[in-house]
Amino acid sequence: MLYESVIGLEIHIQLNTKSKMFCSCSNDIWKKPPNSLVCPTCLGLPGALPVPNKEAIKKVQLLGLALNCTLNKNSHFARKNYFYPDLPKGYQITQFSDALCEKGRLETSFGEVAIRRIHLEEDTGKSMYTKDETLLDFNKSGVPLAELVTEPNITSAAQAVEFCKKIRELARLLGVSNADMEKGNIRLELNISLRKEGEKALPNYRVEIKNINSFKFLKNAVAYETKRQEELLKAGKEVLQETRGWSESGKKTVSQRKKEMENDYRYFPEPDIPPLEFDEKYVGMLKQELSQVLFYKDKNISEASFEKSKITKEKITYSMNDENELSKLVKEVIAENPAPVSDYRMGKENALQFLIGCVMKKTKGQSNPKMVLDIIKSLLE
Ligand code: ADP
Ligand code: MG
Ligand code: ZN
Repeated sequence: MLYESVIGLEIHIQLNTKSKMFCSCSNDIWKKPPNSLVCPTCLGLPGALPVPNKEAIKKVQLLGLALNCTLNKNSHFARKNYFYPDLPKGYQITQFSDALCEKGRLETSFGEVAIRRIHLEEDTGKSMYTKDETLLDFNKSGVPLAELVTEPNITSAAQAVEFCKKIRELARLLGVSNADMEKGNIRLELNISLRKEGEKALPNYRVEIKNINSFKFLKNAVAYETKRQEELLKAGKEVLQETRGWSESGKKTVSQRKKEMENDYRYFPEPDIPPLEFDEKYVGMLKQELSQVLFYKDKNISEASFEKSKITKEKITYSMNDENELSKLVKEVIAENPAPVSDYRMGKENALQFLIGCVMKKTKGQSNPKMVLDIIKSLLE
């Protein structure tokens, strides 16, 4: 009997924002002295109030747009309750229903992978175990993470790895994460089950595998787990629904907890953060920004085929260099877009991005954005 693997991935991507998710502590935590980047909010002290980081929200949405997701106009944060020493407040702020992004997709050479959702959450602190002590470092507590969840429609280790590599590439291209695996910027969870070849229904169990922090581990874990489950099924046994951990030294997965011990997180809406609302204009700006990013990085990139491109910033030449011509176009754009213009005058710097985008559009990308920027600024002063 032949079996095929059914794989779904959960990918945590550490966002490279300036500050943490809900406080103003620096998010640049790599190799910093333990507990040097903390405050009452990210330590989870009673009474401290979280304030969501707009940049983090925007970065998740950019990623979602690039992956053909729908952006929810209404979204909110939720509390996921559990006890752990590196989570002193007793809950993690995450999202449950109405994630920022839903229903996306990404093409791979083995077929399309369906993305269920991408939501935003805070990371926890870090526990370090010595012989007789547990040490806690809260620098990582409150670091923003995008969590991308796929549908279980990945069918092989090769496809899973290709998908993850493309996500890493895209995160870098968009500048939403440094996407450095060695620094733990991307962490993977593998969900895997087997079904008889040709069957369509999802198996009635899944095994979740944690501790996968490289593409090599991912490949090894799929191979090991496929074999383990196949042997059980062939022997007429059932595969337990459980959480296992990947042990690279042992080259095997090890049981961590069974289904009966699964946590009940008692999610409920986070009462300290008002619901989020996004209007058409905001989403329009994001789309504009996305097309600019993709455009600047490589003229040949289109949203669907970013992966084909070489990602280089250099050597873009612009055929439209006539300052008078450009000034004329900028004036048109200013006249056509009173709202962004007044936003800019009120101090919203990113309205400039939008205006530059409009000029780029009119010149079909043939104007130098730096030159356009200077002209817009001088005309608006
Ligand atoms: P939840 O964590 O809310 O219970 P699911 O169990 O539906 O959500 O999905 C969690 C992850 O497990 C997703 O990435 C999904 O694709 C994957 N998954 C769900 N069912 C299976 C299955 N039978 N085999 C492999 N992966 C699965
Ligand atoms: Mg999970
Ligand atoms: Zn803080």
